[in-house]
Amino acid sequence: MTILCVTILRSARPKSTCYSCFLLAILIFRLWRDLYAGVTEFIMKVIARSNPVVRNATLTALLLALVGVPSARTQEASQQEMHHGIAVTNMDRSVRPGDDFYGYANGGWIQRTKLPGDRAVYGVFSVLADVADKRVADLIEETAKSNPRAGSGARKIADLYNSYMDEAGIEAKGLAPLRPHLDSIAAIHDKRELARALGESLRADVDALNNTNFHTSNLFGLWVAPGFSDSEHYTAYLLQGGLEMPDREYYLSDSEAMKQIREKYKAHVAAMLKLGGFTDTEARAARIVELEHAIAEKHISLADSEDIHKANNTWKRTDFATQAPGLDWEQYFRAAGLGRQPTFIVWQPAAFKGESALVAAMPLETWKEWLAYHLIEDYARFLPKALAEERFAFYGKVLSGTPEMLPRWRRGVGLVNGVLGDDVGRLYAQRYFPPEAKAQAEAMVANIVAAFRKRIDALTWMNPSTKAEAKAKLDALYVGVGYTDHWRESSAYEVKPDDLFGNVWRYGLFDYHYQIARLGAKIDRKEWSMTPQTVNAVNLPLQNALNFPAAILQPPFFDAQAPAAANYGAIGTVIGHEISHTFDSEGAAFDSKGRVRNWWTPEDLKHFEDATGALAAQYDTYKPFPDLSINGKQTLGENIADLGGLAAAYDGYRASQGGKTPPVQDGFSGDQQFFIAFGQNWGEKIRPEALRQQVLTDPHAPGEYRGATVRNIDSWYASFDVKSGEKLYLDPKNRVRIW
Ligand SMILES: [Zn+2]
Repeated sequence: MTILCVTILRSARPKSTCYSCFLLAILIFRLWRDLYAGVTEFIMKVIARSNPVVRNATLTALLLALVGVPSARTQEASQQEMHHGIAVTNMDRSVRPGDDFYGYANGGWIQRTKLPGDRAVYGVFSVLADVADKRVADLIEETAKSNPRAGSGARKIADLYNSYMDEAGIEAKGLAPLRPHLDSIAAIHDKRELARALGESLRADVDALNNTNFHTSNLFGLWVAPGFSDSEHYTAYLLQGGLEMPDREYYLSDSEAMKQIREKYKAHVAAMLKLGGFTDTEARAARIVELEHAIAEKHISLADSEDIHKANNTWKRTDFATQAPGLDWEQYFRAAGLGRQPTFIVWQPAAFKGESALVAAMPLETWKEWLAYHLIEDYARFLPKALAEERFAFYGKVLSGTPEMLPRWRRGVGLVNGVLGDDVGRLYAQRYFPPEAKAQAEAMVANIVAAFRKRIDALTWMNPSTKAEAKAKLDALYVGVGYTDHWRESSAYEVKPDDLFGNVWRYGLFDYHYQIARLGAKIDRKEWSMTPQTVNAVNLPLQNALNFPAAILQPPFFDAQAPAAANYGAIGTVIGHEISHTFDSEGAAFDSKGRVRNWWTPEDLKHFEDATGALAAQYDTYKPFPDLSINGKQTLGENIADLGGLAAAYDGYRASQGGKTPPVQDGFSGDQQFFIAFGQNWGEKIRPEALRQQVLTDPHAPGEYRGATVRNIDSWYASFDVKSGEKLYLDPKNRVRIW
């Protein structure tokens, strides 16, 4: 349960350039950047002494003169240099806030910003991710130069990054790293051996509740987390899988746009097989896509997967053969190293029955083709250029609309962050997150938790017994700010500087073995599920815990010199969002100890379900495409968190003023600044293909609709004098009030 989609951010895709050219390019870029930064800083200092109007006009003119059309990055940098508080220049004051609050808060930025060619989506989160990635790149470079001792975390960072940048070595190896794996698939003789191969491919690559990643291309996915009923011990959760495209809708939807995507997908599968050394690729691709289509029919929807009551199904290992006949489960679990695991929580029982039956029903040869294609596809980014580019042509261009890959160094940083996130994170936190920043952010969290508690007390519809447990949840909440105190060790993970494929392969196994080794062990409630260099935040319902990584606790979200109104509207609503997940449509099912337990009186639950149903209906009315609406049920948990978070952050902000009238800045009252800062969290440019993918596969609504949350808050109406007849106006009785 995060503040934004993580999968779109995780879009590192390989592209080939010569390594020495890359180093030269970096050198030139850095020289240019340092020179540019020096000149800019000088001009900024001169301008900073002039008055704000002259300052902004001069700055814009100078930036235009220096760089042509300003990039969002330079705009953000200039704002950070000059201005603390809401970004007035990002607004479009010709829009009436009551008609389109998102456009009012962000229209100026949207009009002048060009989506970079290597991005599917670009907004405040991406600007900060750029900053964090640049810092990580610097850390990696320094680490590599320091010649760290063999076996150390620093050595692994340097070796992993270098293995990614060694394009000549990757090309020279060609398909050799794949061969042994393709040979084992070719050697499968019967369904028993197939079950073994499927078991060997299981990885800990899904996460149903924390980072909400429901997708794996393996037949099934494992998530190791505290148990639904026993939240004191790590438990095995199994989730549906088996598709390469992001969701079953891509296989099943009747819309014309989706049919066209399917045609392109079939051609892409054939192209990948050809690059992987196969013949007769069109016929093979047709069979693979047909099998995936059959799997998609067995999948349950994302909206249903988000309903934990449907997910709470404990099966004994020995139950699988009768509950879901078809797959040789004994072989499967033994090969997965789970031959002694007594029980599992099966998230989507219907999909397990259906997929297992398909293992029996579909021809062995088709399954072998499916295995081979999935292997090639899943590792294409770490293989020669031709494979990486073909993968990007479909997943980057067709599914996300992105014309170009990220530069190779960014993709390398993404890999290192994903694999050695804590080793890098430790360095990142030391350098970029001083104790004062941690203390300030912690104080803000405490204020917003206190505001949330007061809101619970003030609820007129909730019974005292329900209120008592709600407050017990807040009392027991663990809030991590900046970074974890319990870093994960990577000493057992072997990294070689000239073996990219092997490094990635070994990481999947290393992580998997780490996860299954702790099944049944006592949980660590203070364990983090995000690294400090991640620009995001997360609620962990089974641990009753929140993580706010260092990288989101910086301008423009959090700026020690900005007015409280802007900080509470920006990072405060993010903090409020994560606290509110504790009480969203999923979170409300967990008690103060992270167990699934109904602590609600029947009438309170009825009221809660009616109110959340009204919010789902409100989002169902939003229509980004003629053939596609927002799914109010699929995005409900996140929308409740946005609404609860906005309300609690507003209260926290008012409380922080101690009854005084907040200062006017840039002509805006404190309340106006608060709401504009919230709206500016969600300003983004997104490609239509990526928007479609988000609507179909993401629990978060697109930014534009998240910005419209304000229409449920009474003080927003008063702040902007919003009247009946304006597009966002809701009659007071139709404003959704939950927390
Ligand atoms: Zn969230």
